[in-house]
Amino acid sequence: ATPTALLAGTGRGAQLGVLIKGPEILESTRRVDVVLLDKTGTVTTGRMRLVGITPAGRLTPTAALQAAAAVEVGSEHPVAQAIVTSARERNLALPPAANITAQPGSGVRGSIKGTQVTVGRPELFDKVPEQIAGPDPAGTTVYVGWGGVARAALTVADGVRPDSAHGIERLHELGLRTYLLTGDNAATAAGVARDIGIEAGDVFAGVRPDEKHEVVQRLRRQGHVVAMVGDGVNDAAALAEADLGIAMGSGTDIAMESADIVLMRPQVAAVADAIHLSRRTLRICL
Ligand code: ADP
Ligand code: MG
Repeated sequence: ATPTALLAGTGRGAQLGVLIKGPEILESTRRVDVVLLDKTGTVTTGRMRLVGITPAGRLTPTAALQAAAAVEVGSEHPVAQAIVTSARERNLALPPAANITAQPGSGVRGSIKGTQVTVGRPELFDKVPEQIAGPDPAGTTVYVGWGGVARAALTVADGVRPDSAHGIERLHELGLRTYLLTGDNAATAAGVARDIGIEAGDVFAGVRPDEKHEVVQRLRRQGHVVAMVGDGVNDAAALAEADLGIAMGSGTDIAMESADIVLMRPQVAAVADAIHLSRRTLRICL
């Protein structure tokens, strides 16, 4: 392909809202055969809402939410934002939290009045009481607790982007195999996969941020040319590792910096546009 033709291709990409960082990227885009898609914020809107609070024992839902929001207040994770927004909507005063530390891909810890409070996945607790254990089909469940014990379950949910199913269908029409790759639990991931038309067997769930790029590596070692689509801090290493990293323009800066392509329209169909465009551009100039 001549450089001019490739540049023309990237110009057309810009018109489609697909920002391609350099003409040479079209070449790897053309050879992609596998597309890994992050869940939260990529195939879903990432605008999570709190949909349920279930305390175990005598704790009130309000006190549970208050404690959770107090330690989540500085976190940019969609789960954290849902919790903090809900607390604000209820006009809850948030006690100051100290020594806040993020546990990437699993939650956050902070101390409130000398008590170390944890919010996040069940693995962060020594004990999750039976009445609040197990995933909630309504969404993603995280826990708030202290002393190693989960004291309440908080369920947050966001919606699948309305065009995600169509976008996946277009990727399949282009002959690509799609996988869902998420840190979220298997039950929630399976529900989203079903909604958007990804095969039940093509779901990687419960994948920690430091493991996402290993999934990319494994597929590459099997001879695949891998595109990774993501939006979060937790996707950055996988985006860099992939033959083609594609970031949602609505995502975090680090995801956009790590990617080869940035989608100005937050739609899976834009991924199909980019791949279709690169194939056509190279066909014209070969
Ligand atoms: P995804 O891969 O779908 O974008 P993440 O890897 O960001 O998801 O998060 C995986 C899971 O870790 C979330 O579904 C949630 O259960 C938990 N989690 C991550 N960060 C937080 C946080 N700040 N507060 C509570 N839970 C969190
Ligand atoms: Mg995400």
